[in-house]
Amino acid sequence: MKALVKAKAERGLWLEDIPEPTIGINDVLIRVRYTGICGTDVHIYQWDEWAQKTIPVPMAIGHEFVGEIVKVGSNVNDFFPGDIVSGEGHVVCGRCRNCLAGRRHLCAHTLGVGVNRPGAFAEYIALPMTNIWRHHPGIDQEVAAIFDPFGNAVHTALSFPILGEDVLITGAGPIGIMAIPVVRHAGARHVVVTDMNPYRLDLARRMGATLAVSPKDTTLGEVQKQLGMTEGFDVGLEMSGSPQALADMIANMSHGGKIAILGIPATPGPLDMRAIIFNMLTLKGIYGREMYETWYKMSVMLESGVDIKPIITHRFAYNDFEQGFAAMMSGNTGKVVLDWTS
Ligand code: NAD
Ligand code: ZN
Repeated sequence: MKALVKAKAERGLWLEDIPEPTIGINDVLIRVRYTGICGTDVHIYQWDEWAQKTIPVPMAIGHEFVGEIVKVGSNVNDFFPGDIVSGEGHVVCGRCRNCLAGRRHLCAHTLGVGVNRPGAFAEYIALPMTNIWRHHPGIDQEVAAIFDPFGNAVHTALSFPILGEDVLITGAGPIGIMAIPVVRHAGARHVVVTDMNPYRLDLARRMGATLAVSPKDTTLGEVQKQLGMTEGFDVGLEMSGSPQALADMIANMSHGGKIAILGIPATPGPLDMRAIIFNMLTLKGIYGREMYETWYKMSVMLESGVDIKPIITHRFAYNDFEQGFAAMMSGNTGKVVLDWTS
């Protein structure tokens, strides 16, 4: 089968013919239809320090996908060939305290699809049945392909009560932008989004931000004045990975404000502990998606009218993957989707 393989320990990805995966009794085999390119895939392409110490070479990468089940293991009795499915990208151990308690997103022994084990940028992928999410048969398949990052947005955005709250989202990458329609749906009042990239600020406005501003042009204090806010933001969603963005957020929260942090900083940064203490803030780190409450919420929000389709701004056939990665690296994209159907 064709697959995008990290074939050499250097910059790049290679379209290669590799053997189709085999399945065990608890696995399903999926014919991949559409895949999303994640920032993680770009790190692997660029072969940065993290990728060098994490990714086994050679290996097919990728973890955002939708496809059709073509075969199930002998122990699998509730998934069937023809089901349209995506895969949860974190394979958990099933045996640790958190897994046994049903808090699988807190597993301490998680393996990443397309990171620690073979991925979805391939014609076929095999996964344990416990990692499969079955979609409504009529789902938009490009949207289904990006349930993994949509899940990051939903997990973060629904970490705290949103109804009536003023929400600050720092970072208008695909995940930050997908959080906008989610907090809108959940009843936020003002949704302020920050980023330096004009293309992304524009996309944030089109997807429902009250205000989308660059920290280079204005301060969050000025934004609050403009919106008539007097006490700070109630909920903060850190989606940039910038220590500066988190610091600005902490400095602009209301007393008792709540912050969910998804963005991963390149290096650890200091926090204003006094502001956290005296303003009685709650900070929560977010990793991945809740299995499978986040997936359930994504599905039902789409059914009840949440529209994330405009975040998909670029589409390429899988053999044009170089163009897809170049678009991602330009920064002037929402989600980039690769088509594996032809
Ligand atoms: P992205 O890199 O496409 O988007 C980040 C955005 O933040 C960019 O548009 C950038 O211009 C903007 N930014 C940088 N500095 C900023 C600042 N000071 N203020 C405001 N905006 C700033 O990333 P993405 O794919 O949307 O993911 C968002 C973040 O979440 C990334 O840091 C990513 O590594 C992280 N992530 C975490 C998890 C997890 O499970 N915790 C999962 C996926 C992604
Ligand atoms: Zn576990």
